[in-house]
Amino acid sequence: MGLEIIAEISHKYGADSRYVLAGGGNTSYKNDEHLYIKGSGHALATITNDGFVKMSREKLAQIWTKVYSQSKDEREAQVLSDMMASRCEGEESKRPSVETLLHNLFKQTYVLHVHPTMVNGLTCAINGKKIVSELFENAIWVEETEPGYVLASKCREMINDYELKTGKTADLLFLQNHGIFFAGNSKEEIDALVSTVMTKIEEISKIIPDMTEIECAPELSTAFEMAVKEAYPVKEISTKFTLNKEVKRLCSSYEEFSVLMQPMSPDHIVYCKAIPLFIDTLDSQKIKQELDEFEKKHGYLPKIIFAKDIGMLAIGNSEKDACTVTEVWLDAVKISVYAQSFGGVRHMAPDMVDFIVNWEVESYRSKVALNTAK
Ligand SMILES: [Zn+2]
Repeated sequence: MGLEIIAEISHKYGADSRYVLAGGGNTSYKNDEHLYIKGSGHALATITNDGFVKMSREKLAQIWTKVYSQSKDEREAQVLSDMMASRCEGEESKRPSVETLLHNLFKQTYVLHVHPTMVNGLTCAINGKKIVSELFENAIWVEETEPGYVLASKCREMINDYELKTGKTADLLFLQNHGIFFAGNSKEEIDALVSTVMTKIEEISKIIPDMTEIECAPELSTAFEMAVKEAYPVKEISTKFTLNKEVKRLCSSYEEFSVLMQPMSPDHIVYCKAIPLFIDTLDSQKIKQELDEFEKKHGYLPKIIFAKDIGMLAIGNSEKDACTVTEVWLDAVKISVYAQSFGGVRHMAPDMVDFIVNWEVESYRSKVALNTAK
């Protein structure tokens, strides 16, 4: 019964692009003994009962009694191995979500974790923390923290403190520059929480992104695509051109564009790389030079290129990939607009950016999503 309900919750929010993009987000159901968490490689929109990994809650709780290595990589490997060992018999072929530990911290039966654009307008904003405390009861705000064990450990402390201080159980957890957890004992409770959060944020969002498409003279967009394809060192690429009202504003000057020069959330890094490129030429030789310099400086090639006064180009290794890159980058564009209502964008800290750029687990997710995306 519980599994059917969590599958329903997953389908409802997973199929709605306001909540889930590119396979991000995860859900869980628990009873006293077991946690059923979404397995990696399954999309929320289509997950079936056997897409959830059955785990021992007792074994997961034991992780908090252990002392792990001081070295970041070693520690994450040890925790991952203990997490894998918490899978119940017969579940060995499944890979639990990296956010499993967080799900198990909540006492509530159902947990929904997503990265909604509008909510991230708040979690990626300078005044996010203050606004969350004013708007929501039973909510916890967690400052930007490296994902994995350290984040789960911090959340554990905060959830416990909250209970001690208020005698209540938190049902909302806002993660700065990342997303949100909703926790409830029924589907109705989850739906009510989601609806309250979305409505309240909508009410105070004064600046709304305008994604109305604008037609671009075909010779311009084609010239842009051709020039990039000629200049790009990797030959087997697909490109997707986009022009809408926000993109037009952002590509009108480097000054407007600069808000996107630092990432806002891990999703943008995982799918679109940390840094995009802004060019003001369609000369393929000059673009080639800029790409070479970009690669030398950052160690990778850009997946997003804005051409001054023309539009945006997403680069992928397939058509599907280029669509995913576009979708996730437009999410970043929208977040940067929503954040204007809340004191402006608060970018990720540089050391967090490095952490994600080098994070194996996240790149695993990106590979899986690119392979399974519709
Ligand atoms: Zn997340």
